[in-house]
Amino acid sequence: MAAVQLTLGDDGILVATMDLPGRPMNVVTDALMEGIAAALTRLAEPGVKGLILTSGKADFCAGGDIDRMSKWTTPEQPFEASMAMKRVLRQLETQGKPVVAAIHGHALGGGLELALACHARIVLDEPRLKLGQPEVKLGLLPGGGGTVRLSRLVGIQAALQICGEGGDFSPQKALATGFITALAPSREALLQAARDWIAANPKARQPWDQPKFRFPGGDSKSPAMAQLWAIAPSIAFGKGRGLYPAVQHIMSAIFEGGLLDVDSASVVESRYFAACCLSQTSRNLIGTLWYGLNALKKGASRPAGFEARKVTKLGVLGAGMMGAGIAHVAAKAGIHVVLLDTTQEAADKGKAHTQALLDTAVKRGRSTPEKRDALLARIHPTTAYADLAGCDLVIEAVFEDREVKAGVTRQAEAVLGTGAVFASNTSTLPITGLAKASARPAHFIGLHFFSPVEKMPLVEIIVGAQTSDETLARGFDFVQQIGKTPIVVNDARGFYTSRVFGTYVLEGLAMLREGVHPRAIEVAGLQAGMPMPPLALQDEVSLSLAVHVADQTKKDLAAEGKAYEEHPGMAVARQLCEAGRIGRKAGRGFYDYEGDDKHLWPGLTAMFPTAATQPPLAELVDRLLVAQAVESARCLEEGVLRSVVDANVGSIFGWGFAPCHGGTLQFINAVGARAFVAHARELAARYGRRFEPPANAIAHARDGTRFE
Ligand code: NAD
Repeated sequence: MAAVQLTLGDDGILVATMDLPGRPMNVVTDALMEGIAAALTRLAEPGVKGLILTSGKADFCAGGDIDRMSKWTTPEQPFEASMAMKRVLRQLETQGKPVVAAIHGHALGGGLELALACHARIVLDEPRLKLGQPEVKLGLLPGGGGTVRLSRLVGIQAALQICGEGGDFSPQKALATGFITALAPSREALLQAARDWIAANPKARQPWDQPKFRFPGGDSKSPAMAQLWAIAPSIAFGKGRGLYPAVQHIMSAIFEGGLLDVDSASVVESRYFAACCLSQTSRNLIGTLWYGLNALKKGASRPAGFEARKVTKLGVLGAGMMGAGIAHVAAKAGIHVVLLDTTQEAADKGKAHTQALLDTAVKRGRSTPEKRDALLARIHPTTAYADLAGCDLVIEAVFEDREVKAGVTRQAEAVLGTGAVFASNTSTLPITGLAKASARPAHFIGLHFFSPVEKMPLVEIIVGAQTSDETLARGFDFVQQIGKTPIVVNDARGFYTSRVFGTYVLEGLAMLREGVHPRAIEVAGLQAGMPMPPLALQDEVSLSLAVHVADQTKKDLAAEGKAYEEHPGMAVARQLCEAGRIGRKAGRGFYDYEGDDKHLWPGLTAMFPTAATQPPLAELVDRLLVAQAVESARCLEEGVLRSVVDANVGSIFGWGFAPCHGGTLQFINAVGARAFVAHARELAARYGRRFEPPANAIAHARDGTRFE
């Protein structure tokens, strides 16, 4: 079967239907482009009046072929591939007859670029349909003419936003932005509108091929754009800290393209495309956020042999911050939720959280009153344990207290069916210990959500010593059912995410103790690519909580007869707590808070005098990243982590580990295990044993292998 099927109608209009054999979606491959080239040959025949480019799959075209891109090793390969695609597209738009893209599904990346080369784009008016240039999210730039045509169609500023931010556009928004021609209410109407457009425009030409063409809003040297170009790079740097070369390359391609004719701009774009394809950053992003994430979505960490199950009735114990959030996301996924707290008032307050979120969504036009009411009707706030009868899963999110958790476990299990799963959302207490309160520990599991639950994409699933594979499979299915990404870890103090996240924050605190200026620590955190700097972050999670968890750990380890070695950063947290500066919730921590405003507490440098010689910023950045990478490798070595992909995806989605590095273990791969181990040893000699590389990293260094 051909990649593009051609049908010539009685009206002389050729319909080219993209339908790549053996693939679930259309992607830009050589076969697809050859099919389009063949369509152009037919179009040139006398009697053929125009061409409709459409798709035989659910999407229009989902973008470039990542498998093919991943194999490129020299810059000539991406450059040539991109130019080859563009030669076909240029021919398509200049051959003299009208070509219309009829789009009834997603048109993303290379898919949108195909459509942009057409003389008109008519799109099914379906709000879930996505259009956009998401390449930047994988460290790439649109290499099929996207920067060139968008800047000529919607202007340089909008093109910068579409390509530089990589967001999705609904058909309505795309129409308002100006990169599609019209909307159609149904698929039939879509094809009819395409035919009508061809009939009305027998000699279609692109705006940029008209003699009097002007860039909407001005070209790169116009006064308005000169102003934009004066600030765009600094805005981009503020967001990405210069860690994402694709953003700079996109800006350069659009800027330079804005001084050139279409064909020269196309060549410039292909050069930047080649630079992006070979960058370490894009390798990191593609490895983790494409291959890794897709593997997790397909169930890489789910035990095989258990039928996929769906939760129909969920119990949530504790209607506080986390419980209310969990109830909300579950109800949103169509699940009936029993939301239980100690008083009806507290349970109702949990439900009110969803009401508030949905009221805002309705106000902003993102939902309707009917949808809101239907979702709210699925949440049943209560104090009665009997209401939990029939739940397939119960998640407890009560106070972080062993006794309280044990109590609710027993009470819930008394009314649950024998097959039901009981999960704890604890952030610090080992699951195996909590399962002691359970009459059936094989059905007991950890489902660690992150705050705010509605926004955070990850759930860390914790397998206790007695948790069965079937329970794990059911936990995994539930996490996917509510649209979150699951990683699976074994039970241990702090699990994976809290433990490694802690090393980032505490390293920052340790630096303060050594006399590094607080401002330098904060800049280093941002420059490392972390979403928030260490001291600010410690304020958010609260210093008193950190001290409480450390004291609890110390007690627990003593009870197990194990030694407790405190991170040097903890002394800083203790000292601030003693001074009553326990973090943001008290309005005083490393920062002083006044409303939304905050600034570093001036007393900090008196408490921790700044050393006369300050280390270079690069060294601080490096230390913050290496601390997390070493601890992640240790988690894998100790069997807390079960896979490299869980480590990488979990670090980015869980606590925002710099995505440009592709996750904590990919960070080691990119540096190279040998160099990493040598460097970690140097840091260990200077700052302490916490930097000592674990055996797995040493083995990779010795064997020249990588974390895979
Ligand atoms: P919270 O204090 O906001 O809510 C706890 C709720 O549990 C309160 O509404 C309380 O009334 C209720 N509760 C207490 N005892 C109860 C009982 N016996 N029966 C029924 N309800 C009871 O706390 P939170 O921040 O939502 O945290 C809840 C759990 O989630 C804790 O285990 C915490 O460690 C964990 N967690 C918290 C976060 C976070 O960022 N806050 C993140 C991950 C996990």
